[in-house]
Amino acid sequence: LGPTITAGEILVEIMSTSIGAGFMEPQSLIGPFPSGAPAIFIDQVARLGSPAGIISAVGEDDFGRLNIERLKRDGADVTAIEILPDMPTGSAFVRYREDGARDFVFNIAKSASGMIRMTENARTLIGRAGHVHVMGSAFAIPGIAEILMEAVAVVKSRGGSVSFDPNIRKELLAGQEDARRRLDQILAVTDLLLPSGEELAIAAGVDDEAEAVGKLLSSGVAEIVLKRGAKGSSCFVAGQHLDCPAFIVEEVDPTGAGDCFGATYVTCRRQGKSPEDALRYANAAGARTVTRRGPMEGVSSFAELDEFIHANRSDN
Ligand code: ADP
Repeated sequence: LGPTITAGEILVEIMSTSIGAGFMEPQSLIGPFPSGAPAIFIDQVARLGSPAGIISAVGEDDFGRLNIERLKRDGADVTAIEILPDMPTGSAFVRYREDGARDFVFNIAKSASGMIRMTENARTLIGRAGHVHVMGSAFAIPGIAEILMEAVAVVKSRGGSVSFDPNIRKELLAGQEDARRRLDQILAVTDLLLPSGEELAIAAGVDDEAEAVGKLLSSGVAEIVLKRGAKGSSCFVAGQHLDCPAFIVEEVDPTGAGDCFGATYVTCRRQGKSPEDALRYANAAGARTVTRRGPMEGVSSFAELDEFIHANRSDN
């Protein structure tokens, strides 16, 4: 199996330790934590002992080193992360509202993550890859769509596969012809789609869940996995419909759950596990992530997931 790869932002995340406080007032912050949805995804694949690599960029600073060291420690291929001497590593500040929603202040466009480009090392990684995971969050970066689509073309031409986590919001798509066209372009090459919340309806263009699933499956997406937060997940593949209840845990920090869930599902399926086993492991990975503060602090090995599954009840 060639490595699972993605391209996109690497960031540090710095978060408020109190609930409700806005960034207009001084407050206690905790961090920096390694972050960026594509980086969390790749780190989780690597933690499961599967080859994984990311095309990205960081600054020549401690925030960049923190990320590279974490990814390396967990076994990810960091050769296609460019180190840009004149740019800072990207960052995100997060605060939590009373209702559990989050607000972010991002510094991506004018950071190293805003300057990700196709390098020789990136081409070499793509040349070895067996699977491309496309993350919607990365599309805010200029030129990333071209890098991902080139990777998809190369990997597919060799018989590899593609997964897609749309990470889109209606407001971001409204009136954006380009965004809709890009979404359709990726859906056309997607083998495994991993939407959450309203993303399924947006991707399919119909609100009813069963109808949306049917439409996407008949358009050529082979497998659809719905992430349902504290309600668990569902999978639609080869005429089967499976529901898997969530594990009952106390949520401390939701950041990273979807990325760790997706990475675990993709890895299990690439290793030949059944959709049922993949869903259970992915639910465990998502649940374990929300019990820890910090986006990449809850990544899990298979041994940790097995232990978690034995120690925790699920909601059925
Ligand atoms: P996203 O972060 O992409 O919106 P979700 O919030 O649905 O994705 O989380 C992904 C998965 O993580 C869920 O399908 C579920 O398995 C697990 N998960 C998330 N939140 C919780 C929670 N509060 N309790 C238990 N499991 C959770």
